[in-house]
Amino acid sequence: MKNNKAQLYILLTVILTVLILISPLGIELIQARPGGGHSFSGGGGSSGGGGGGGDGIEFLIYFIFSELPPEISIPLVIAIIVIRIIVKNRNKKEKETISASVGIDASVSRTHALSNNLISLKSIDPNFSKVLFLDFVSSLYQKYYSWFGTDEFKNLSPFFEKSDLEKSAQYKNMQSVNEIVIGSMRIGEINILSHVTGISVDIEANYTVNIKDKKTRYSVTERWYLNRKSGIVSSEPEKLRKIVCPVCAAPANFTDTGVCNSCGNEIHTGEFQWFVKKHNIIRQEVFSVKGLGYYAPETGTQLPTVYQYGLNTAIADFSNQHKINWNQWETQFKYNIASKYFMAIYSAWSSNNLHLVRSLLTDRIYESFMFWMQAFKQAGLVNKLENININAVETVKIETDKFYESITLRIFASSLDYVSDASGNVKGGSNKRMRSYTEYWTFIRRNGVEKDSHDIASCPNCGAPADKMGQAGICEYCGTKISNGDFSWVLAIITQDEVYSG
Ligand SMILES: [Zn+2]
Ligand SMILES: [Zn+2]
Repeated sequence: MKNNKAQLYILLTVILTVLILISPLGIELIQARPGGGHSFSGGGGSSGGGGGGGDGIEFLIYFIFSELPPEISIPLVIAIIVIRIIVKNRNKKEKETISASVGIDASVSRTHALSNNLISLKSIDPNFSKVLFLDFVSSLYQKYYSWFGTDEFKNLSPFFEKSDLEKSAQYKNMQSVNEIVIGSMRIGEINILSHVTGISVDIEANYTVNIKDKKTRYSVTERWYLNRKSGIVSSEPEKLRKIVCPVCAAPANFTDTGVCNSCGNEIHTGEFQWFVKKHNIIRQEVFSVKGLGYYAPETGTQLPTVYQYGLNTAIADFSNQHKINWNQWETQFKYNIASKYFMAIYSAWSSNNLHLVRSLLTDRIYESFMFWMQAFKQAGLVNKLENININAVETVKIETDKFYESITLRIFASSLDYVSDASGNVKGGSNKRMRSYTEYWTFIRRNGVEKDSHDIASCPNCGAPADKMGQAGICEYCGTKISNGDFSWVLAIITQDEVYSG
């Protein structure tokens, strides 16, 4: 009897695996402009994420598996997937007759659902800020990998499941991970359940794994699921930027059972703060610089612009809040911020002088640019963007929360775009023929900052030259961190047109 049962589970698991494999859960790869818009093996770069995220199904499956016994959960999940495939196929047939860009339509409707869930979340947690939440996840990600297999990993005990702590202990002194660079992060779904709130985040990153003397650099996409007990209000920015004790705010210093060494409180996962319930690697490739000279044709330049649902309302709210005439304000924003930043950042990129625009970039995008710059250097190549023209700029999205506001614009540009070696031989692209492209650029700024523009070559806080911002984006003249957007707009995300879905 027991044997039969075991065989049945094996059979059901096989069916389930086959169904999951044929079910369309995959995520799209992307390409990056810094590096010329050609596709890197494994995508990546500074772009704002693939089309991932899913529609909630993975979260549901995950809950079913963790809550129900296998004799119920396996058949239930099979049924859900079968129904999903049938529905998807039917929707696909309907959509094919209406629209040529099925993929974009699907991700746009998913984005609408996501923005509705975001509104619901903000209504129960007025402190929730997407910008700060992603900063928090990015800090957790960095710490997870840099501390994995070391004694320090126990400091993460309130933020990860016990199984992660055990795994880290198993790998003690066996491997280390460094040179962790996050290329992009994107919220895939928000689930507000009665006792728990869950958010999934897709993270594209690169890191080096060292095992004994062997170093391997990987390019990965990971999906992290974060949970928090219902009814919790997010911490203030200062507490979310670093990994700190959610009770006393001291830097993370915990025992392996989650007792804070500063205040003595035992912090259970998800009780006061987000914790990582689960994380998966959904794509992993060994990173190589071989493909850096290769240019793929631009595929999204002709696609229609994707506007936020309710953009006009967002514009009206933004105008009221800042007491501005939108048309005038938008004109100066496009000129003083979007266009000026675009030109300055890409000139700095072409001349390998990224430090000149450090004050215009968030930490994450700066690190990602630096990573690609190093990769080109390592391959003996340099990417040049010359004769840049901006042909049009369109506002597509405005988001505000208690702490930050963000504006996304689609920038239509053309330039020479090529890769050459040290002696100036063109190895990819063209230094004669102009290339047209469009990109979605997202700028962020701390709420309450009213000064709209500043001389981009100077510190927006003290006015000294912006030539000593260091790696961390801290002005050496006034000692203030500029790259958080606390004094002026900073560029946070670049998304290629073929993957932008709102
Ligand atoms: Zn504490
Ligand atoms: Zn300064």
